[in-house]
Amino acid sequence: MSRVLIVGAGHAGATLAGLLRQAGHRGPIELFGDELDLPYHRPPLSKKFAEGELEQWLRPAEFYREQDITVRLGEHVVTIDGDGRRVRTASGEFHNYDHLVLATGAEPRALPVPGADLAGVVSLRTLADARVLRKCLEERLGLAVVGGGYIGLEVAAVARSRGVDVTVVEREERVLARVASPRLSEILAAHHRRQGTRIITGAEVTRIDGADGRVRAVVLGDGTEIPCEAVLVGVGAVPRDRLAADAGLLCAQGVVVDEHARTSDPRILAIGDVTRRPLGTGALVRLESIPSATEQAKQAVATITGAPPVAAEVPWFWSDQFDLKLKIAGLVPATPHTVVRGDPATGRFALFHHHGGMVTAVESANSPAEFMAGKKFIASRTRIDPARLADGAVPLRDAIVH
Ligand code: NAP
Repeated sequence: MSRVLIVGAGHAGATLAGLLRQAGHRGPIELFGDELDLPYHRPPLSKKFAEGELEQWLRPAEFYREQDITVRLGEHVVTIDGDGRRVRTASGEFHNYDHLVLATGAEPRALPVPGADLAGVVSLRTLADARVLRKCLEERLGLAVVGGGYIGLEVAAVARSRGVDVTVVEREERVLARVASPRLSEILAAHHRRQGTRIITGAEVTRIDGADGRVRAVVLGDGTEIPCEAVLVGVGAVPRDRLAADAGLLCAQGVVVDEHARTSDPRILAIGDVTRRPLGTGALVRLESIPSATEQAKQAVATITGAPPVAAEVPWFWSDQFDLKLKIAGLVPATPHTVVRGDPATGRFALFHHHGGMVTAVESANSPAEFMAGKKFIASRTRIDPARLADGAVPLRDAIVH
């Protein structure tokens, strides 16, 4: 009966604890979390932070009791002794393990400019951050969003929908530059602008000005001042791999793992946003997404219990921005051949990126059937006819080349 310690009680860690029991693991399971809250759903923090319950627990407290999973909230693991197979917490306690799983996630990248510590400047990762942001929106009129990534655009959409004056400042030449195709960036930016959001691209914030300790304006490199009473910083996430690096595990801006979630120490696994993982393409990538965390939790279960390896999944992501329910499968290539199915102007469309007669990625809005078909095409390396795929009158299955 092996003893499993999981460091990190986010989506990856908590999912793993549950799946291990489901798979019949009978040994002790201890889940360590920095935060004081039970593991919770993070997506609503940027998508629905303005209304309703923020505290959406992944599992109720009884679940952990019934499943005999020891949840140690607020207990920070500070060192790993790989040879001794034990960890030490900040309070000086030692805990032994047979398998250690690092699920320490990522943290918001800080904005390295003067004024970033003013009251009213917030980043968003935790429940506590979302509570602060909600309060800012309830009290303030103008919001500047630094970073046009998922966090920035989702928060901008919620705030704008509630009548807040919103300006997004993005350093790249287009929003969502890291994860979306140029075409999708263009469609999304136009959609946000139509709702009255100001989007400034190719611009960097150089300082944040305040009055009486509170933010008053963000200032861009060319001197432009954007008056605001609150600032949301969404300039990326940094993997929390310090614990692993200090323990001598192989790290490269993230803990390097294989397709079985194993690190360079055979007794230590890592899953979720903190990892840099293979995807069958030869390159190691860091996927910051819930589906990836869940997939790796399944890999870890197989490794720990000795079950057969799990089949690889196509990476996918989702986002809600105004009325657009975006679902993206595959990694969007830099210079894709693209066909559009549907009409972006109606808010229902899918961009199919293809190469060598096969779909490599699909970016869809309010089009679940196209998303599902695209994801299957990618997984099964189905040959498709791009012209037929682009024709909304042709059923998706008839785009397959037999
Ligand atoms: P992100 O997707 O990396 O986007 C951050 C953007 O901010 C990048 O385009 C970045 O440009 C830009 N930026 C960096 N420094 C800047 C500066 N000084 N001024 C202006 N722009 C700047 O990260 P994020 O939106 O902060 O999200 C954080 C994490 O949460 C990510 O892991 C994200 O995947 C995750 N998340 C996911 C979802 C979802 O899947 N729907 C929703 C919310 C959050 P450069 O590339 O030039 O640095």
